[in-house]
Amino acid sequence: VPISLRDEATCSICLSFFTDPVTIDCGHNFCRACIAQCWERPDTDISCPQCRETFPQRTLRPNRQLGNLAEILEELDKEIVKIQDENVTKLSEEISRLSDLINEIEEKYQQPTSQFLQVRRLETPRSLPRQGRDSE
Ligand SMILES: [Zn+2]
Ligand SMILES: [Zn+2]
Repeated sequence: VPISLRDEATCSICLSFFTDPVTIDCGHNFCRACIAQCWERPDTDISCPQCRETFPQRTLRPNRQLGNLAEILEELDKEIVKIQDENVTKLSEEISRLSDLINEIEEKYQQPTSQFLQVRRLETPRSLPRQGRDSE
């Protein structure tokens, strides 16, 4: 999820995705519950927690579009976490399959794989083409 979009859908009071977002007179958005809590005390000025603008009255306009965006992003975040979990499972499956394969090779050749891995490592630099001298 792009960071700007995430910011767009994040409440500056609770710092999570909006739940039932409302727009106040200055144009800032908050969760209905968050702004309600800010404006709970009747003796304080009605002001925006973000820009400090004060208002003569409490006006909360529901922002359904933003609510939808927040919902989608939240779902997307869950999906991303799920995919990451799946990838970790796949990766560890891959690793165990690889170590099975290594065991198989070791049995077949009656020597530890690390031995031919080492040989390969020593051979590789010699077969690489020389680079950089012409461009200097
Ligand atoms: Zn909030
Ligand atoms: Zn504001």
